[in-house]
Amino acid sequence: MKHKTVIEPFRIKSVEPISLSTEEERVEYLKRAHYNPFLLRSDEVIIDFMTDSGTSAMSAKQWAGMMEGDEAYAGSRSWERMESEVRDLTGLKHILPTHQGRAAERIIYGHLGGPGKVFISNTHFDTTRANIEFSGATAIDIPIAEGKDTALEHPFKGNMDVAALDHLLKEHKGNVGAVILTVTNNSGGGQPVSMANAEGIAAICERHGVLFLLDCCRIAENSWFIKHREEGMEDLTYREIAQRMFAICDGAVMSAKKDALVNMGGFLALKDTELAEACINLLIITEGFATYGGLSGRDMEAIAIGLREIFDPNYLDYRIKSTLFLGQKLHDLGVPLMLPIGGHAVYIDAKKLYPHIPPHHYPGQALVGELYKLGGIRTVEIGSVMFGTYAEDGTLKPAPMELVRLAIPRRVYTQSHIEYVVETFEELMKQREHVRGVRITKEPRFLRHFTAHFEPLA
Ligand SMILES: *Cc1c(COP(=O)(O)O)cnc(C)c1O
Repeated sequence: MKHKTVIEPFRIKSVEPISLSTEEERVEYLKRAHYNPFLLRSDEVIIDFMTDSGTSAMSAKQWAGMMEGDEAYAGSRSWERMESEVRDLTGLKHILPTHQGRAAERIIYGHLGGPGKVFISNTHFDTTRANIEFSGATAIDIPIAEGKDTALEHPFKGNMDVAALDHLLKEHKGNVGAVILTVTNNSGGGQPVSMANAEGIAAICERHGVLFLLDCCRIAENSWFIKHREEGMEDLTYREIAQRMFAICDGAVMSAKKDALVNMGGFLALKDTELAEACINLLIITEGFATYGGLSGRDMEAIAIGLREIFDPNYLDYRIKSTLFLGQKLHDLGVPLMLPIGGHAVYIDAKKLYPHIPPHHYPGQALVGELYKLGGIRTVEIGSVMFGTYAEDGTLKPAPMELVRLAIPRRVYTQSHIEYVVETFEELMKQREHVRGVRITKEPRFLRHFTAHFEPLA
């Protein structure tokens, strides 16, 4: 018999209690957190969909590996394991361990960036953009046009616009820091990137003599989509697909907190020796010696094991199909979504859900507040709070989309948790016309969504 039910391909060996709360309590918690879920205590959250980053449940094998961690300052065995695993996967010669993705970003983009430099991506993730802009350089996003239409179905909505890339590389000749392909495209909706797109970009970069980097946080999830959606790829394993993509790039940045199934870690992998040497100098100054970066030996063990486990076909099938399960249920309720459903998250189109709330009243932030109040569900706004800027006269230049992300931690929640979330949305849909926007009462200059204070509009 072939079953329709996609079960979690693991048993639970260790449990962590969730503290439950009432709606009245949550109204108070939210007020105290200035309506910013980043300022809530985790004990005040029932289902935490804020991020899939660093929130994975590790396997028994990974925990066992941690006991084997070699904490030597130099030449640790655990480093050798991590290095050989990353090298085997990426085929890249120089591997630099870092404490998380953004540390690798600061090193490489700090080195390649600076005033006058330009970086081009399908969509820069928020920390990527922040590190590039902090160096004084400019970050340009060129997703394909289909990627900007949230309702349109397209198999590879995360793709980069290759014609626009060719044009930009001519326009900015001599000043391009790097071309960065983010797989899957996180900020653009968790959407996959095709092999054909990656190959097209690699060819253009080579022709222009420009560095081509992969932001490969979710390369395994991306490989699932390629195998199931792209012609000619169906006979390759997920790992072979990932390796084929790594083979055409000059380097990769990874936050191991995603597809390496660990709570902390990252790396920078580079082909070019001269570039790697410059980056290793920066690594030693700010992260740690070249054989540990910002990591403990035990973290490096867990990364080495996680990078193998992630390509397990049963795991990847469950991962993508369980995300789809949530998306499909919300779609059936009439919740406007980013379609098709991506790999690690379901994105709600808050502009369509709350058409009566204008962008400068932040419909996404309003939705984030409602989900928390009704169900204790913590989510994140990916819209004008995260990416909006101000014009000279102080008016908001809104982001192109007002999304709210329900990011699903790996191997953490079961189907009944997901059904609880769906039930919360049933109520949320009934109340949609009565929800009002918010205004910002306090904000920092960079990455304002992390610490900004809000106030509901009367
Ligand atoms: C998470 C993430 C990063 C940054 O990694 P951290 O480990 O959070 O510093 C960079 N790019 C993408 C696409 C990400 O998802």
